[in-house]
Formats: sequence, C-alpha cells, structure tokens
Amino acid sequence: MRVLIPRHAAALLGAVLVLSLTSVLSAGEYISGIPWPEPKVVDPGPAGGPPSDAIVLFDGHDLSQWVDGQDWKVEDGYAIPAKHDIHTKRAFGDCQLHVEWATPEKVVGHSQERGNSGVFMMSIYEIQILDSYDNKTYFDGQAASIYKQRPPLVNVCRKPGEWQTYDIVFEAPRFDKSGKLKRPAFVTILQNGVLVQNHTQILGASAWDKPPQYTAHAAKMPVQLQFHGNPVRFRNIWIRELPKSDAPPPKKK
Ligand code: MG
Repeated sequence: MRVLIPRHAAALLGAVLVLSLTSVLSAGEYISGIPWPEPKVVDPGPAGGPPSDAIVLFDGHDLSQWVDGQDWKVEDGYAIPAKHDIHTKRAFGDCQLHVEWATPEKVVGHSQERGNSGVFMMSIYEIQILDSYDNKTYFDGQAASIYKQRPPLVNVCRKPGEWQTYDIVFEAPRFDKSGKLKRPAFVTILQNGVLVQNHTQILGASAWDKPPQYTAHAAKMPVQLQFHGNPVRFRNIWIRELPKSDAPPPKKK
C-alpha cells in the first residue's frame, strides 16, 4: 500500500535530513593543536605532604635550610622563633608553600601581642600568623591577612595550641629592566583547607608604619619567618617551585 505524504511535509522531512547529515559530517573532536608537554608524575605523599617534587624546608629535625636557623629552638619535631627572623638559604619566585603552625595554648596578651609571627613571601610580603581565635585586632592584621592590606575572607582559626595549616600559592611580582612594576604579586591561601585569600593582589611591601609600595627586587627571594616575641610553633614546611603562571603556551607547529 502506498503511503501518501503531503508535499509540504515531504519538503520539511527533506530539510531535516539534509541538516542532520550536514551536522554529522561537520561534527568531530576539537583539538587545540597546542603541543603541551606531558605533565610530570608527582607522588602526593602522605596527607599534608610533602609531595615528591617539594623542597622540604623543615621536617621537624633541624633548620639547616634556613639562615641563622640554629638560633631558633627545635624540639619534639617543631621549631619556635627566637632572637630574630630567619629566611631560607634558597630563593623562590612563583611557588606553592605549605606551613603548619600553632599559637601558644596558654593565652597571653591580646590583639597583635598574641601568637604573632608571619610568613614573608620573598622576605617582603607578610601573610600574618596570629592567634585570631576570639581575639579582636584590626581586620587587616588578623591571621591569614595580607598584613595591613587585606583581611582574610573568613576567620577559620583553630583554638590556641591546635595545629593549623597554610597552603599558599604565590605569584611573584614582575618588574621591567628599569625597575618599573609590570605586574603585581598575587596570592591564594587556604587556611585549614578553607579559602581565605582568593588570588588577592598584593599592593607592595608589608610594613607596620607606612603604606604598601613596590620596590624592584630579584625574581627570586627567600621565604622568611617572623620572630615577634611569641612562642609560636612551626612544623612540616615545604615548598614547590612553580612555572611562571603568565608564561605563554607552547607555539603551534
Ligand atoms: Mg606578624
């Protein structure tokens, strides 16, 4: 039996068939064509690291990776600031830094005098360490602030005496040959696994007594830990050097 299809329906069916065929013929996998190198394999290590490609800066035994580290007290697997700041023997630019710290269990003092230390990226830009558990101070000076520049997104401090973590992704500033700032530094920080700084632009050197400003410096500089007179404890410090985040992708052939 012949099935009669109205002329306009047949035309419509034909158009649909042509469109479908066209889309099938033109469909295919998108390939960027950028010759990316294969990412290297890294063993993440135990919880909290260090990963296999990290440089261990303090494993609980000694501060031999730090200039004047012998002046700090090392006991029971942790280090306590004394006498002065210390900085790494090696210099770093863009990097991922893991630091574990604990403010004193016995609460002494208030505001900036309670569990104060700090991580200075490139020895210049301070990420504040402070006992900010039920301890009011100026917000851009509390724990996980970029000191005197930006408070943390949230206050996620543990109680005094408890171990806390900073996982810091730092992008160093770029200067041109004349010393002019080409691109500021940026930092992303997780405190105890919680985002507290989200690609925050750093405005310049951290100082207590003057506004932040940039002064040209080397592309790589040491990491510095602060002695602020309080017996903050440190352990498990490691760092990974990162490729420059603003490097262009490999050229297509
Ligand atoms: Mg400090």
